[in-house]
Amino acid sequence: MKHLSILGSTGSIGVSTLEIVAGHPDRFRVVAMTAGRNLELFARQIRQFGPRIAAIASREDVPRLRELCAGLEVEILGGIEGLIAAATAEEAAMVVAAIVGAAGLVPTAAAIRARKDIALANKETLVTAGHLFMEMVSEYGVRLFPVDSEHSAVFQSIEGQRSQDISRIILTASGGPFLNTPSSQLAGVTVADALNHPNWSMGRKITIDSATMMNKGLEVIEARWLFDAPVEKIAVNIHPQSIVHSMVEYIDGCVIAQLGTPDMKAPIAYALSHPERVATGVKPLDLTTFSGLTFCKPDMEKFRCLGLAYRAINEGESMPAVMNAANEVAVEAFLGGRIGFVQIATVIERTMDAHRAHDLKSIEEVLLADRWGREKAREICLGLVN
Ligand code: NAD
Ligand code: MG
Repeated sequence: MKHLSILGSTGSIGVSTLEIVAGHPDRFRVVAMTAGRNLELFARQIRQFGPRIAAIASREDVPRLRELCAGLEVEILGGIEGLIAAATAEEAAMVVAAIVGAAGLVPTAAAIRARKDIALANKETLVTAGHLFMEMVSEYGVRLFPVDSEHSAVFQSIEGQRSQDISRIILTASGGPFLNTPSSQLAGVTVADALNHPNWSMGRKITIDSATMMNKGLEVIEARWLFDAPVEKIAVNIHPQSIVHSMVEYIDGCVIAQLGTPDMKAPIAYALSHPERVATGVKPLDLTTFSGLTFCKPDMEKFRCLGLAYRAINEGESMPAVMNAANEVAVEAFLGGRIGFVQIATVIERTMDAHRAHDLKSIEEVLLADRWGREKAREICLGLVN
């Protein structure tokens, strides 16, 4: 029986994780879970999965959550201390890090320090503080399993191989809803258009990241740290069908890829059950039903965010954290109708232009860079509307 703590249980990844747990009550048990704001769903999950600890992001929500969970034997906590208590719950062997954004940093770091294995969905932790997280992973001797489908594919394609034999990691990208939209029409797209992802059903923030292709930029940075690969060896191929989840090319010319129906339950389950596999209910892949699987290079001029992510990782130090913060602010402003779609890249670029990259020696310093990036990006957003 593997005991799990799930950070972000009410999100898209959290809900899929719980579906897998519910399908395998003999293998997995939830001992702690956390949520942001969706109290009703969280209370239903607590009732169904019976964790010992349930933590909600805001302390103000604790009384209402206690009311909703009346009669249940659960310790209800709130605020960052509550999230940390859930992330470090004594019985948990593995923590599923599925909070969205830089808010996932502190609880995930606490879990590593408490020597929990990590199933990592929260890519922003590696984007903002990859070097610190990978150092902590080795210092505390924990295992880090990727949940992101591309990184799970790479992970599965390198098992049993020697890292010096890898010549390239090729991340695939669907290209999102605007793959075939001419650049000249991007300025007019709406929030609803951008949220309409062709292949994946995900949280709102990552769905917008997919539409701008910042998601793939974040994933290049994530891959750089997870697989200790120089960024020049990480390529991006557009593959609109999202069947090949990523590939690894070796020095002998062989390429190993992982394929499957696009459903996050598959990579989540592999992170939970590695090195074994468990049934997920994911629709079996029948390649004969496809008229073709296609691949092409991304249009870097149209998807400016992808280039900005390469720039951030090349400049290094605090730049990726600042870029990530600016992206979070810009995406929120776009979702709130305060800036247009193409202005997301503009806000990020101007924030990066205003930043002088510096060394980050601790998570606290990462959080300071994150705050700086947020403030600068908010200021730039205001300037754009006025
Ligand atoms: P989501 O928005 O659906 O869910 C996020 C979860 O985090 C929710 O439980 C929410 O309540 C909680 N949360 C939000 N803000 C919080 C805060 N400030 N403090 C504490 N909790 C907070 O997001 P998602 O799509 O499930 O994505 C989660 C993470 O996984 C992201 O980092 C995303 O990039 C990554 N990811 C998601 C997918 C996917 O298919 N959804 C795929 C790959 C990677
Ligand atoms: Mg992905």
